Order: sequence, then C-alpha cells, then structure tokens
Amino acid sequence: MNGRPLFLFNIPNARFIIFGKVFWPQDFFIFGLTMVTFIIFVILFTAAFGRLFCGWICPQTILMEMLFRKVEYAIEGDAAQQRLLKNAPWSGSKILKKTGKHLVFYLLAFIIANTFLAYIIGVAELWKIMTEPVTQHIAGLFSILIFSGVFYAVYAFFREQACTVVCPYGRLQSVLLDRNSMIVAYDYKRGEPRAKFSKKADSSLGDCIDCLQCVKVCPTGIDIRNGTQMECVGCTACIDACNHMMEKTGRPLDLIRYASENGISDHEPLRYTLRMKLYTGILCILVMILSALLMSRKDVDATIMRTPGMLYQERGKDSVSNLYTIKIANKTIRQIPLRLRLEDISGKIEVIGGHAIPVKREEEGSGNFFVVLPRQLIRNRKTTIRVGLYEGDKKIDEIRTNFLGPIPDTDND
Ligand code: SF4
Ligand code: SF4
Repeated sequence: MNGRPLFLFNIPNARFIIFGKVFWPQDFFIFGLTMVTFIIFVILFTAAFGRLFCGWICPQTILMEMLFRKVEYAIEGDAAQQRLLKNAPWSGSKILKKTGKHLVFYLLAFIIANTFLAYIIGVAELWKIMTEPVTQHIAGLFSILIFSGVFYAVYAFFREQACTVVCPYGRLQSVLLDRNSMIVAYDYKRGEPRAKFSKKADSSLGDCIDCLQCVKVCPTGIDIRNGTQMECVGCTACIDACNHMMEKTGRPLDLIRYASENGISDHEPLRYTLRMKLYTGILCILVMILSALLMSRKDVDATIMRTPGMLYQERGKDSVSNLYTIKIANKTIRQIPLRLRLEDISGKIEVIGGHAIPVKREEEGSGNFFVVLPRQLIRNRKTTIRVGLYEGDKKIDEIRTNFLGPIPDTDND
C-alpha cells in the first residue's frame, strides 16, 4: 500500500506500519490509541457475539484446525484411528507415520516462523537473511530457528492449552460475557433429560441421545452440555456434529446452536443492552479522536533548536545571526530536498553546506542553518520568528522559534 507493506511491527527499530501508514516513535500516542480502540472493539464484539474471534479469526485456532489438524488426519486418520495408533506398539508403520507427521509439522512451523518474522523485520530484510551468506546473519538465523521451534512446540504439543492457559483474552471471557451474549450453547430445555437413542418415541425424554459426538469433535475436549466454559473457542464443530446426529435420527436441528443464555432459558431475542450501548459510545468517541489525529498527522515532523551555548553573532554593523539545528523525520516514501524560508519577516536563512537539507525517504535527517536578521528589526532580547519548511514551492510545515539579539540599549553602544 503506497509502496509499503500493509503491516509491519518492527519492534527493534520502533517502526510500525498499519494499513500502509508509518508510525514513528513520535506517533506513539496514535499507535497507543489505535491499540486501545482495538481492545474496546474486541470487548464490544465479545459482549455481543461471544468468542467468535477465537474460533474464526485467531491465527492460533485457524492454523491449528485448518492446517495442523488436517495434516494429522491425513497421516494418522480420524480421532479413533489416532488413539489406536497411539496405543499400538512401535512398528515400522507407526515410526513412519509419526516421523512423517512431525517433519511436516516442523516444515509448516518453519514457514509460519518466516512469515511471522517478515511482519517484524520486513520482507526485504528476511530475503537478505535467506539469500546472503549465513555468517552475515547469525542473529537472523537464530531468530528463525527459535520462532520455528516455538511454533512447532505449540502446534505439535501445547495446542489448545495456548487458548485455555496462556491467552489473556480467553481468561477475560467470564467478565466480558453476560446472559445476553451470543455463544455456542446447548439447548438444555430441549435436550434434557438425555437418553440413548431408541426408535420408540418417549415424550418424557429430551432430544439429546447422549452420543457424545459433540465432545469427540471439540478441539478443547469439553462437553458443551455442561454450559458455557472458558475453554470453548466458539469453533462450532459441536454444532455440526450434533446437527448430523439430529438429521440421522430425524429430530429438529440446532440442539446446539448460536444463542444467548436468555434465549435458551426464556426464548428472549438478542438485545442491544445498556453495556453494549456504553461500549459503542466509547468506541465511537475513540474512533473520532483517532480519525482526527490521523488526518492531522504530518508526513514530515521537524524540530528546530538554537545551538546550545551560543547567543548571537554580529554580522557587520547592520545584521545579527543565530545558529540553529533542525531535526527532520521524513515519513514519506520520497526523498525531500527541504528548503527553509523566513515567514513574515525580512531577513535570510543560510543553510550550512548548501541551499537545501536532503532528507532520505523514511529516515531522519538533520542540518544546521543561520537566521540572519537586520539589526533594526530586533526590538527585544528575544524575537519570535517563524520558519517555513518547503518542498519545492509547497509549504509542508511551519515552526516557531526564538531569535536572540542584542538588547536595544547595547545596540546603541
Ligand atoms: S464446545 Fe463446541 S464451539 Fe466450543 S470449542 Fe468445543 S466444539 Fe468448538
Ligand atoms: S452431539 Fe448432540 S445429541 Fe450427541 S451428545 Fe452432543 S448434544 Fe447430545
């Protein structure tokens, strides 16, 4: 986007790119506010739709269910076959399957680690690590190996424990959800009392045939019939499994479905509660502040300081000068030959080393310059001046600073 990656989280160099926009350390408050807005959005989303994020957006679940679990099923068979293989004595076939699975797991973890690293250091830097001699990138190589090892361990062994033990979002569920939140829920009013399937209709029994299919398919191994649990990642695998059994037994679908606690117990429709309204209000305010900050954000940030320890320099009889240092952060993707002009005061600017200060794309630059003012314009010890920053004829910023001059009494000496 605009010649930049869509996302980059270069923590070592404190440089972040979000949707193609660069955030420098100077923009840290915008970045912080973006994070706060995102968290409020997640809270609101969770209050309304439960743990939908975990089952459908979180990379941990998606990679686990859509990649690693699929590989496992392809090599070792379904859950029952996997159990058989686990309990079987070691044989050539078992060694082959286990080794093959873990090799593919490590390969996938290696690819994920490289992708992950690309988000931190950028694709260009990652490409250098891949193509240049190893000796030039020992740290990069170790980073890739460490990341690969961590991802391999998580997906091969730690698995859903990452959601239940490590993930703070999972831990927050109990405070974020209420009886109106939409969750994957078992309709106990319809399902209980459960009993094994029988062809004889018995109106005193519920629809649950206690087949345990919902438990077998659950990636976190919970029984959703026991109510909402922290371990549920909202993947809906139990809904599909139960609907399959309902179809087979000719019973109505959706014994397990998306519903709120109040929806199950009192058939209440989903409500836009006061809590959700409050979160929405906060979110709107944050989005407005953030939009205003982003729109007013400058592509070039500059600071001008008078050179410390120097007062002013006499330039012959009729002029006085001050020496300044300018520091510029160029957040654009083009080199800017920066020119300086005095605004609304006659006088001149002498840039040391040339007419313009070149600032490379996405880099910080600095330079020194003199401001020279005619002596008759200096009425006070300190005069406020405005320095305009120009790219060609286009003014990109204006900075106020002080000009020190001889006090009027000494002027007459
Ligand atoms: S209870 Fe159902 S939705 Fe929740 S994690 Fe298990 S299978 Fe997925
Ligand atoms: S899959 Fe449905 S019918 Fe089978 S045990 Fe679970 S809730 Fe009951």
